Amino acid sequence: MNISTDQAMSELKQLKEEMEKCVRCGTCRSVCPTFRVIGREAASARGKLSLIRSYLKGELEPGEDYLRHIKECTLCGACRTSCPNGVNTTGIICAARADYVEKKGMPAAASVVFKTLRESSSPLVLRLATKMQGLFFKDAPIDSGLLSRFSLPLIGNGRLMPPLAKTFFLDFPEVKSLSVQKGSSGGRPRIAFYAGCGVNYLMPNIGTASLDVLKRADAEVIVPTGQVCCGMPAYSMGDVEMARSMALKNLEAFEAGEFDFITTSCATCGYGLKTLFRKLLSGTPELAKRVEAFASKVRDITELLANDLDFIRKGKKKENGPTSVTYHDPCHLGRNQGVREAPRELISAANGVRLKEMKHPCSCCGLGGGLGISNYGLSIEITRRKAESIRDTGAQAVVTACPGCMVQLRDGLFRYGVGTKVAHVVELL
Ligand code: SF4
Ligand code: SF4
Repeated sequence: MNISTDQAMSELKQLKEEMEKCVRCGTCRSVCPTFRVIGREAASARGKLSLIRSYLKGELEPGEDYLRHIKECTLCGACRTSCPNGVNTTGIICAARADYVEKKGMPAAASVVFKTLRESSSPLVLRLATKMQGLFFKDAPIDSGLLSRFSLPLIGNGRLMPPLAKTFFLDFPEVKSLSVQKGSSGGRPRIAFYAGCGVNYLMPNIGTASLDVLKRADAEVIVPTGQVCCGMPAYSMGDVEMARSMALKNLEAFEAGEFDFITTSCATCGYGLKTLFRKLLSGTPELAKRVEAFASKVRDITELLANDLDFIRKGKKKENGPTSVTYHDPCHLGRNQGVREAPRELISAANGVRLKEMKHPCSCCGLGGGLGISNYGLSIEITRRKAESIRDTGAQAVVTACPGCMVQLRDGLFRYGVGTKVAHVVELL
C-alpha cells in the first residue's frame, strides 16, 4: 500500500468522526505543555481540532498560520490520555500534518536529512560533518556539548548539542563483529539491538553501555546490519511515505536473523518499532504477518532487563559511588508504551543509587513531535519547568531512557543554570 496524497487526506477525513467526539470541555488545555507556555487556544488540542475541522469544512485555507498551529505540539500525548472522551488527538494532529506535507511538501533541509538517514547508518555526508563540526560549533563551558556559533537550519542559535561521534556506534569494529549470529546461543536468550540515530550518531557510549549490560544479563546480543532511522522524526513531521520506507528497510534488516527479542535504548525508537511500524506496514497483506512477528518482539531495554531477563535478581551489577538520581519519564516510554515501573525498579536496584522523584516526572521535556526543529524557542521554553523540577529534587543526576530527552535536558539544564548531570538508566546498571 502506498500512502499517497489522497490517502493522507482520506485518513484525515476518516478521523472526522473522531473529531466529533470532542465536547470542548477543555481538560486537554490543563495538561498541554505548549498551551502552558503560549496560553493561546490554538496551542491546545481543543484549538487544533477546531482549526482542522474548519479546514475540512473548507472554511479555512491551509496557510502559514494553520501550519504553525498544527506544528505547535510535541505529540506528548498528555491531551489524549487525559481526554474524558478518549479523542485520538495525536492521531488527528499527525494526520493533519501528513495531509499538509502531501499538499505542500516538506521543508527542503528536513527532506535532505531524512533521505540521508534512510540510505545508510554511516552516510558519507555525516562522516564529513563530523570532521567539519568545529566550523559551526564551539566548545561549551561544560564537558559534554557544543554550542552553535550562529543560527543553523534545523538547529537554531546558541543551542547546546552533543558533538557528532568521531566513529558512529554501528561502525565500531566490536559492534560490527556482533552483526552475524554464530551458531547456537547456548540456551541464552538471543537479543537483536536496534541503535537508532541518537545512539548511533551522538551517544555511542549509550550503545556500548547497553550491549555491556545485556551481556551481564547473560543474553546473546546481535546488532543487525542494514538498520537505519526508525522513521519517527519523519512521521511526526508529516512525511509518512519516508517513514514507511524507513520502517520497511528496518523490517528487512531484522528479518535476516531469528531473535527472541528486539530491543533499543531509545524510547522514541521503541515506540516507533512497536506501534508506528504496525500502523505503516500492516495494511499491506504481504507485510501484515511479518510486521506483527517483528513488533511483538520489541521491548524497551528497561522492560527487557527488568521483566524478561530478570536482571534485578540475576544480573551482574556494576559499582557506582553513592549517588542520588531523579527519573524523567520519556513521553514515548511512560505514556505511550506504559513502561513506568521497569526503569524505576532498575534504578532502585542499582548499587549505590538512591531514587528521588521529581514533581511531574511524566511532563514532556519539550523536544518531541519535531518541535525541537520547527520551533526551538518554544521547545526549550517547555524545558524550563522540567529543569526547575529537576533542580528542586537536589539529585546529583537526572536519568532517563531516551537519547532525545537527554539532548534536550542537557541543553535546558545548561540554559537555566542547573548543574545536574544527565545520564541513561543503562549507565547505572
Ligand atoms: S479533553 Fe477531549 S473532549 Fe475535552 S476539549 Fe480536549 S479533546 Fe475535546
Ligand atoms: S500532544 Fe501534548 S503538546 Fe500536543 S496538543 Fe496534546 S498535550 Fe499539547
